[in-house]
Amino acid sequence: IKSAPHSTYCFFDINMQLNLQREAEINNTMEQALKDREFVVYLQPKVNLHDNSLVGAEALVRWIRDGIIIMPGDFIPIFENNGFVVNLDFFVYEEVCKILKEWMKQGKKLVPISINVSRVHLHDEKFVDNIKSLVDSYGIPYNLLELELTESIFLSNTEAALTAMRQLRGLGFGVSIDDFGAGYSSLNLLKDMATDVIKLDKEFFGHDNMQREEQIIVSSIISMAKQLNMKVLSEGVETQNQSDFLRSVRCDMAQGYLYSRPIPVGDFEKLI
Ligand code: C2E
Ligand code: CA
Ligand code: CA
Ligand code: CA
Repeated sequence: IKSAPHSTYCFFDINMQLNLQREAEINNTMEQALKDREFVVYLQPKVNLHDNSLVGAEALVRWIRDGIIIMPGDFIPIFENNGFVVNLDFFVYEEVCKILKEWMKQGKKLVPISINVSRVHLHDEKFVDNIKSLVDSYGIPYNLLELELTESIFLSNTEAALTAMRQLRGLGFGVSIDDFGAGYSSLNLLKDMATDVIKLDKEFFGHDNMQREEQIIVSSIISMAKQLNMKVLSEGVETQNQSDFLRSVRCDMAQGYLYSRPIPVGDFEKLI
């Protein structure tokens, strides 16, 4: 299957070249793009598994340039390396505050919106203060915001992550562990995690017919979380079978294409 070493090398080289070019272009355009409001917040519904009612949303950013949607997987990793993710995230957080403020003004049914926290924020001791001042400046109740911290943050930066989590929760923000079960698991850290919600990684729901082993693992995590007074949301739920199984093992909430893709704010507002 392997081609000659020489051609393999060339192929690799061209790919690297393309990646570097793409990365350079992103580096050169990101600041103007933020000013030009090319970054747009989409919302993906979260539902209660027992009655399918809407219980919240996750804010997911898209870069829309010349009508083309660029997905976060193509730029967030670059922004995490060059530090720009801090600027982008605070833009996203502010957009979410504006959305909630508008809903409050219009007397809409209020559901909490969750926002993603990059590992880069944990290098800044003022992160929690900065979020707090932003949210205060819009007069949004803290419990309408939920901060999603990925499991991997807790493994690489344990103390900073636990501290931030406790501070946020102490203030009354919602907190969740994102991508739970994806990496080297942090089961032993669960006891220190003051979290409201565990978000089971979508890898558990990668195919319709879950293996018996996967079902055992998922149902065990759910029962463990319940005993620790945490709620469980399953991510990436795409089929009715998965949803039926999750209901049978008393998972609380779900998010995934079965219910809705991430959608523009205007479309989400038709649901509330
Ligand atoms: P994530 O936080 O794990 O977000 C969930 C991802 O799963 C989203 O991808 C969502 O569109 C996708 N998803 C939802 N339901 C399904 C499903 O049923 N099947 C499948 N296969 N996928 C589903 P998206 O929007 O492309 O975002 C990718 C990642 O980029 C996010 O993963 C998050 O880590 C990061 N990201 C997105 N927006 C932001 C942001 O504003 N700030 C930061 N720091 N990171 C963000
Ligand atoms: Ca997330
Ligand atoms: Ca996730
Ligand atoms: Ca993820």
